[in-house]
Amino acid sequence: MKDLLKVLACTRCKGNLDYKKTHLVCTKCRLKYSIIDGIPDMLPEHAEKV
Ligand SMILES: [Zn+2]
Repeated sequence: MKDLLKVLACTRCKGNLDYKKTHLVCTKCRLKYSIIDGIPDMLPEHAEKV
């Protein structure tokens, strides 16, 4: 997961992502991406605003 974080970026603002076990949170726009079966769902239309 750590290596994946290096290549992944927020699909909306390209910001860095913070790993929170059950989801990823963008450090810039705070958009929340679910992690399903260990795979982050990076579709912006699935992401939640916090
Ligand atoms: Zn973002």
